[in-house]
Amino acid sequence: MKKIVMFCFLAVFCAALCACGQGVTKTVPPPEQSAKSSVTADQMLTKEAKLNESASESVQDFPFEDGEGRTRYRLVINGTEVETKNYPFTLPSEPNGGYYPIEDVLNFLGVACLTNDDHSALVTVINGDIIRVFANSPTLTYGKKPISAVNTNTVPVVIDGALYVPSFLLMQLSDSSVVDFSGNRSAATLGTDIVVDVPTSGLVGVDSSMLEQSTPSGSGQVVTDGAHRCKKCGGAGGYNEQYFDQIMVNGRWQQITKSRWRHCPVCGGRGDVN
Ligand SMILES: [Zn+2]
Repeated sequence: MKKIVMFCFLAVFCAALCACGQGVTKTVPPPEQSAKSSVTADQMLTKEAKLNESASESVQDFPFEDGEGRTRYRLVINGTEVETKNYPFTLPSEPNGGYYPIEDVLNFLGVACLTNDDHSALVTVINGDIIRVFANSPTLTYGKKPISAVNTNTVPVVIDGALYVPSFLLMQLSDSSVVDFSGNRSAATLGTDIVVDVPTSGLVGVDSSMLEQSTPSGSGQVVTDGAHRCKKCGGAGGYNEQYFDQIMVNGRWQQITKSRWRHCPVCGGRGDVN
């Protein structure tokens, strides 16, 4: 009996000591430990933000109105949904004339884009043809041919740091490129048979001077010897990663294929290495 009492007393004493020890640690945390715990707190916040983000994504119905009169859609290219916050949109005045985020579209096709800081100018190369797009300019350069809007009010625009082009410009990507809406009108779609040849596409051979509208496009084509092309991405500047996601369609969860663009870790998206 005595032994048991003694043991209990010891146990309580130890517990008290431990508690005391913890108390001390809490009030005077060593510097490294406090730094560590703040990182953990940050990480937790990020995690929480991510969770919230995915939660809000899953409840986002399409199409939706964005508060500035635009109707926004999911972006679906060749049957695959593209992961982006730059949702294609239509204006009330032209309910069937979609505007598409050009950088997301070109990334999906497999090429990185060079843009200026406010994303009002974009340049890249597909199969040797230079593509140049400028906000508020009805003319787009695509290889040898300049493509102009019939209605000069229909021009590329910048919204929240993304450049959007009127859908007819995308129809010029190849002879059979079609823009449309999905059956339930939740998505703006692009169907294209363009095949990107990586060794003759991407950012190798273009530079920031071409983001100035005054710089001529020359022949509209770029020929590179491939000497500095990044070995990892072949000069494309990145790659598409496919994954599965669930979306709610008519009250039911559906598994869909999604795609996201990843910058090449070797060249950082530039396409070339020295
Ligand atoms: Zn690369």
